[in-house]
Amino acid sequence: MQAGRPPVEPNQPLNTPIVPASAFHAGGSTEYARETAPTTEALEQAIGALEHGVAVVYSSGMAAANAVMDLVPSGGVVVAPSAAYTGVAVRLRELAAIGRIGLRIVEADDLAAVITACDGASLLWLESPTNPLLQVADLPACIEAAHDADALVLVDNTFATPVLQTPLTMGADVVLHSVTKAMGGHSDLLMGALVASDPDLAEQLRIRRVLLGAAPSAFDCYLALRGLRTLVLRVEKGQANAQSIVARLEGHPAVDLVRYPGFGTMASIEVAGGAVAADLLCASVRVWTYATSLGGVESLMERRRRWPLESTRVPENLVRLSFGIESAADLWNDLDRALRIAAS
Ligand SMILES: *Cc1c(COP(=O)(O)O)cnc(C)c1O
Repeated sequence: MQAGRPPVEPNQPLNTPIVPASAFHAGGSTEYARETAPTTEALEQAIGALEHGVAVVYSSGMAAANAVMDLVPSGGVVVAPSAAYTGVAVRLRELAAIGRIGLRIVEADDLAAVITACDGASLLWLESPTNPLLQVADLPACIEAAHDADALVLVDNTFATPVLQTPLTMGADVVLHSVTKAMGGHSDLLMGALVASDPDLAEQLRIRRVLLGAAPSAFDCYLALRGLRTLVLRVEKGQANAQSIVARLEGHPAVDLVRYPGFGTMASIEVAGGAVAADLLCASVRVWTYATSLGGVESLMERRRRWPLESTRVPENLVRLSFGIESAADLWNDLDRALRIAAS
């Protein structure tokens, strides 16, 4: 991928340098780093090229989410999935509780419910696949229904990544990423991105970054840009690992249910024996890592309901799996061994 690289000229480096500056000499288009900065712009060009729009990056995925919520008019209705990312779901409920927005909760995979809920809405907030229930929405149909109702459509594309799905090409207005996850890919940075098909909307979102003060550092932009260069390889290997291990988990005596949409690097399992057995599984792995987050080179697992704010729609014994790039045989042997301990 060439996007976000310096010009192809003698003496130019192949990679965009880290430019650690808050202020720039007056008179140009770059003056203050909360507005824009060279390393930030390079990353935005690369993410924009991947998602087919104009990208704006933020200090975290939640900062990006708040920038969009800020654009909802006072009293405007937001339609959101029942088990959206926890932070997003909690924040939307907070805004509804103080009367800032109206909130309608739907199941992301119930198209009829989404269509009904869009009537009179300002914003349809979609996540597909959802975290951690891995429900898949009919994105083109949901987007069309929202546009018929004059609502803006946001798709949180953190799980699928632009390697597997590009919602702007399906008509969505804004794509959200927790760059912290697969885009960064190495569990070493926090960042968010919004990508809009309309440059005017992208500019409004960039002004939200300026006013909310949610600018990422030059160093983190550099790390994210470096991570992006291997995004395709990491998603392909993580997806291959997920597909081979999910196939072997079906029918495993220690697993009640496997949730996997057929694509991507995320799966969830419901462990036989309830929350206690699920916790024992997480405590027993050695190749896998017991930690929150996802999308890194290392395979991670956690029981989601250990978080007090996680939706009660998520079963107590659900363990979310994020597939990294290790050997599939090593991952399987470790998971199978730990599941047998959990079931004993
Ligand atoms: C992690 C995550 C977020 C929030 O991103 P942060 O970078 O942690 O602030 C939003 N949506 C999804 C789907 C996520 O997994």
